[in-house]
Parts: sequence; structure tokens; C-alpha cells
Amino acid sequence: MSFRAFIKRLAEAGKLMEIHEPVSPKLEAPAMAKKAGQSILFHAVNGSKVVMNLLNSRDTLAMALDTPPQDIINKLINAKDGSTVIVEDSPTKEVVSEPDLSKLPIMTHFDKDGAPYITAGVVISEFEGIMNASVHRLMMLSKTELVARLVAPRHTYLLHKKASEQGKPLPIAIAIGIDPITLFAACTRVPMGEEFNYASALKGAPLELFKCENGVAVPDAEIVLEGYIHPTKRAKEGPFVDITGTYDLVREEPVIELTRMMCKEDPIYHGILPAGNEHRLLMGVPYEPMIYKAVGSVTKVKNVVLTEGGCCYLHAVVQIEKQTERDGKNAMMMAFAAHTSLKHVVIVDDDIDIFDPREVEYAIATRVRGDRDILILPHVRGSSLDPCCMPDGTSTKVGIDATKALGDERFERVTK
Ligand code: MN
Repeated sequence: MSFRAFIKRLAEAGKLMEIHEPVSPKLEAPAMAKKAGQSILFHAVNGSKVVMNLLNSRDTLAMALDTPPQDIINKLINAKDGSTVIVEDSPTKEVVSEPDLSKLPIMTHFDKDGAPYITAGVVISEFEGIMNASVHRLMMLSKTELVARLVAPRHTYLLHKKASEQGKPLPIAIAIGIDPITLFAACTRVPMGEEFNYASALKGAPLELFKCENGVAVPDAEIVLEGYIHPTKRAKEGPFVDITGTYDLVREEPVIELTRMMCKEDPIYHGILPAGNEHRLLMGVPYEPMIYKAVGSVTKVKNVVLTEGGCCYLHAVVQIEKQTERDGKNAMMMAFAAHTSLKHVVIVDDDIDIFDPREVEYAIATRVRGDRDILILPHVRGSSLDPCCMPDGTSTKVGIDATKALGDERFERVTK
């Protein structure tokens, strides 16, 4: 399903708010999107169409993946191998021009932000035959320049490092407004070069790609910005709000120089609200199958969720069908290993609805004895996004085994 087809489907399902009045890209549109808390299509942001909160809930993500919300994890785990196909033409080439970022509705999201930011730009890079696709926040420096936050040792960082060691620019294309499954695939940490194959696997059909002038192959998109990451040039990146809803540190990051821009007629720009549900779900949901598989190697796992209250990143709830009395703690260890940014994990039985925070709290209230069921792991590598992480990057992880003791027949829970 294309980006536009998905927006249409949201509208038909009554899940799309539409704003026809002119709205400013500076603070106003992001504030309205935040308040709306649902998918929203602006018809006139700096004269352009903008969609925000596209995948703002498990329901809309499930719609995109064509599966019920509670089965997202099964859909992700069962994706078979996929491959891509190169095509000659694309509607993305309808309007080709010199790069000029001032023509796009690039938004300033919060008042202390360093500059306007592209937040839904999939950066596709290619070097020595190896490609990568991932979303990076991109701060606008001028009409033709951006500064990208490249986290070590993520794949774009590695490809840029390799190119710059040879004194070469890294060719890239930034695709904005791509189909939701391919966007989701680009947010998933798959082996180097596999994002678009993974997208094809999730779609069940080969993803079509076309080549930019600089050789980078991109999927159908509303807007494509072509250029390269400079081998040495850096600029201050930030301040910018990350998934925890707090300002990230300002750092010197690599500069992107644009050479060309193309788009469809009357393109729909996609903006992801920083710290909004869409941002959090795209960051977190791809880890759920990884945790599921890891826990599945030590016990019978039923489901996994990275909870919204934990920014879809720092807190997991893992549902197991306990086989032996040590399963809870083994499950915790596997969850921490599978998602190294995970800070707290709660293990529950399969009668607990993991999508309902009250049910999870109920399990903690009625099945946890602190001296027996809590595992504290001090001084381990944490998430750089955790506001109480130590300066050296370490933190303390806590696992809570909220499963019932096996064989304890007292206090049976009533069921409806
Ligand atoms: Mn990658």
C-alpha cells in the first residue's frame, strides 16, 4: 500500500483529522498534531500538504501491516525472505529541481529546537556496493545543507566512516513520504543492506526501487532529496527532543550537502512528532520480535510489548507460559540481551493482558515478593537516551518477575 493509499485508507476508516486552514510549520503544526493525538492531514503548511501521526497507535500500525494489533509480533516474526526489483520510472520524478529546503514545510517542533528538522526522512546510503536505509533526524542548516545525527555504530555511521577514511563523500538520498511498511522496515535493525529486502518480505511482494542520479536506489516517495554526506565537514546538531520527551545533547555531527531534489506533483510531506507515539512506536516495536525470539530460547513466550509509558523503549512487558520456577529470571536476562537499551522489564503470566497497564500493575501487586522476584543489575550498559544514565553510558537494569509461583494453588484468580 502506497503512502497516499494508506492516508486514504485512514480517511475512509474515520481515523484522519483534516485541517484546511493555513498553519505555520514553526511550532503551530506540531502543537496541533500533539494535541490531536491522532493521524492528521494539514492541507496548507507553508503552502504544502503535511501528514503527521501517521502511525501513531498500534491500531494504525496494524492497519499498515494488515494484521490485528495483538498479532503485530507474529506478522514480524513470520516475514519470509524478500527481494527488491529495480524499475526505470517513478512518479517521484514528476518535478525535478535544484535543492531548496525552504520550499518544503520543514517544521520547528519545540521552542528550544536548534532549527527546523526533517523527522521522517529515510536516509538511503550506498558505498562500495553496500546499501543502508534508516531514519535520522536532520537539522536544516541552509537551503541546501542539513546536519544528520549519526549514532555509532549504526550502519549509516559505519558507511560514512568508511567513505570518509578514503576521503570520499557518501552518496545518499533522503526519501520522505514512503509507504508505511517500508518506513517501518527502515526503522528495524536488520543486518547491513537488508532493510528493503525486509520491507519486501513484510509486504509479500518485491519492493520497487529506482535509481537516483548519484546511483542510490530509492523506493517510491513523495519527496526525494539527493546528495552526499561530506567526508569531514561537521556542524552543531541540536538541541532536539528525543523519545523521552527531553532535550538530547548538542553534538558536532556530519553535514549533508544536497545536489538535487525531486517530488510528486503536490507532494504530501511526512513529519514525525518528536516524542510522539509514532516516533516511539517506530523506535520500539521493531525490538519486540527480537525480545520474543530471545526469550523463546529459554521458555515458552506468548507476547512482548514495549510500553508507551516507558517511551516504547525503556520498559518491556514479557508474557510467558511458565514451564519451570526459574523461567522469569531467565526471561529477564534474555530480554536485556536482545534490547540493550531496555532498562526495566516485567515478566507476567499469560492471563495478564500486557497491553493494559492496570493488568500489569495487578500482576506486580499480587504476584511479586520484593526479596524474591526482583533482579537488580548495576553498572551495565544502558541507553544514551535514558535521562538518568551515568556519564559513562552505564545504568542499572531491573527485572521484575510478576509470575505466580508454580504449584501454588492458594488465591486462585477469578475469571469472568
Ligand atoms: Mn541498516
